[in-house]
Amino acid sequence: MSETDAHTERDGATDVDAVVVGAGFSGLYMLHRLREQGFDVRVFEKGDDVGGTWYWNRYPGARCDSESHIYCYSFDEEIRQEWEWSERYPEQPEILSYLQFVADRLDLRRDIAFETEVTGATYDADAATWAVETADGERVTARFFIGAMGCLSEPFRPDFDGLDDFEGDWYHTARWPDEGVDLADEHVGVVGTGSTGIQFISETGGEADHLTVFQRTPNYAVPARNRPLEDDEYEEIRANYDEIWERARDSRLGMPFEHDHYSAASLSEEEIRETLEDRWQQGGFRFLHAFEPGHVLTNAEVNAVISEFIREKLRAKVDDPETAEKLVPTDHPYGAKRPPMDYNDYYRTYNRDDVSLVDVSDDGEPIERVTADGIRTTAGEYELDVLVYATGFDAMTGALLAIDIEGRDGLTLAEKWDAGPRTYLGLMTRGFPNLFTITGPQSPSVLTNMPLSIEQHVEWIADCIAYMDEHGHDAIEPTEAAETQWVTNTNMLADNMLFSEADSWYRGDNIPGKTSVFTPFPGGLDMYRDICDRVAGDDYDGFEFDQVADAPLAGQ
Ligand code: NAP
Repeated sequence: MSETDAHTERDGATDVDAVVVGAGFSGLYMLHRLREQGFDVRVFEKGDDVGGTWYWNRYPGARCDSESHIYCYSFDEEIRQEWEWSERYPEQPEILSYLQFVADRLDLRRDIAFETEVTGATYDADAATWAVETADGERVTARFFIGAMGCLSEPFRPDFDGLDDFEGDWYHTARWPDEGVDLADEHVGVVGTGSTGIQFISETGGEADHLTVFQRTPNYAVPARNRPLEDDEYEEIRANYDEIWERARDSRLGMPFEHDHYSAASLSEEEIRETLEDRWQQGGFRFLHAFEPGHVLTNAEVNAVISEFIREKLRAKVDDPETAEKLVPTDHPYGAKRPPMDYNDYYRTYNRDDVSLVDVSDDGEPIERVTADGIRTTAGEYELDVLVYATGFDAMTGALLAIDIEGRDGLTLAEKWDAGPRTYLGLMTRGFPNLFTITGPQSPSVLTNMPLSIEQHVEWIADCIAYMDEHGHDAIEPTEAAETQWVTNTNMLADNMLFSEADSWYRGDNIPGKTSVFTPFPGGLDMYRDICDRVAGDDYDGFEFDQVADAPLAGQ
């Protein structure tokens, strides 16, 4: 039976062929790709427009750390030739416009239900279908249930006592109001100095009457060196796009940058520092690519030289030596936490009289509570009109687990992942047939340039679904053995890297009560792609297929 016949046979048995949750980079491409294959798809999106991460994160200074020419889709030649990025790193409004442009160009909106939150999904093993429920009480059945909600989309806000008493306004950066917030003349407090906090602080320092930063852990922010993209530069990118994408796909992080040396192990400290000096001027993730990033994250001695190099650079930017010491990370090696970028002279922001830093680590003055007037630490009270939580996300698993997902035999995803996620390839988890996760836990995802990882997953899933139809399969899920092996391999790779030397959201350490386990696949996008291709080429080795009596295709 042809793919189209199989598809037609199924019409009417379920409301749609696939339900996709989320209309960001992942959901939009998944919708397009499946529609191209003749499937009927419904996308549910909580926001009132497309964009995902770039719809929600509208805080001042929001910008992407991947360079714009590779922070986009590669699959459509017309789109990539027609769209033109204005700066080296794209700002949130520009990325949002890009995704709106793509949605319009591919006529995607007609299959997206906006302002619709998916609350539950239950697998019917007899029919090999999912019943998906929304907060409005709508119930939609589908053969495939596809999570495309992004890895950093479930905001985390620490539960400080007393927030209800606060007489000012408070915001989470990931839910920043569209109309903005007028911070002029206000005493603003911001909790958090991750990628988001650093962008927010350097953008708003000087705008508020006073900005107080509550920092628990400092970070290594390397200068991004943003600038407008010149016309001739852009022409060159366009002319060489195929080669650029090829290099990016064939790299660990999904970025097309060359290394000066693969390894620094045989270089003297002076030679390493010379290389770093040049890379410091190039800025952004090109700094991390001075050497192969996997090498930087496995060789403790080399990493120590790099970390110290950055510390010296950071100290030199801050006038007050005491403040400088607070801003310089010594608790973890560079790269063990996601390294932020500095777009706006972040460290020099602290040289301003209207910006102050409060160390709320255990060695400083931890936050005790929010009061009517501001924040009280163990050392005193800070008066605030506006309190900003730049406190991150329940990463990688939070958005999936926010949905009440029930698989085969009544097993819930929350139960199955209680001690950490268990997946095969980060694409599927046993006991939840026909549930795919785009950039799911234990795939390279957040360790890479996301659009590239997203495209790879979308294409793999779409090909897998086509294969199922060609072969008359109703259901797919990983075998127990393949899943166990994948979890073990992922953990083993992470254990051999420096990631364990930091408390980080990579491991879920930022969420009280969450099991600490390294969640992304750290072996690199290049290796991962090869594994996925081999699995697919080998008739989906490690997966098992099922034919189900009540399924629309039974007996075909
Ligand atoms: P994050 O990296 O998790 O940072 C959260 C911050 O809040 C940390 O400084 C954390 O301190 C602090 N915090 C959390 N709970 C706290 C508490 N109870 N008391 C005091 N401080 C507390 O979150 P994020 O900055 O939103 O970034 C998350 C990820 O999103 C990034 O790593 C990146 O992958 C992505 N992102 C990317 C960009 C970009 O591309 N430009 C921009 C923003 C975000 P500790 O470190 O001590 O936990």
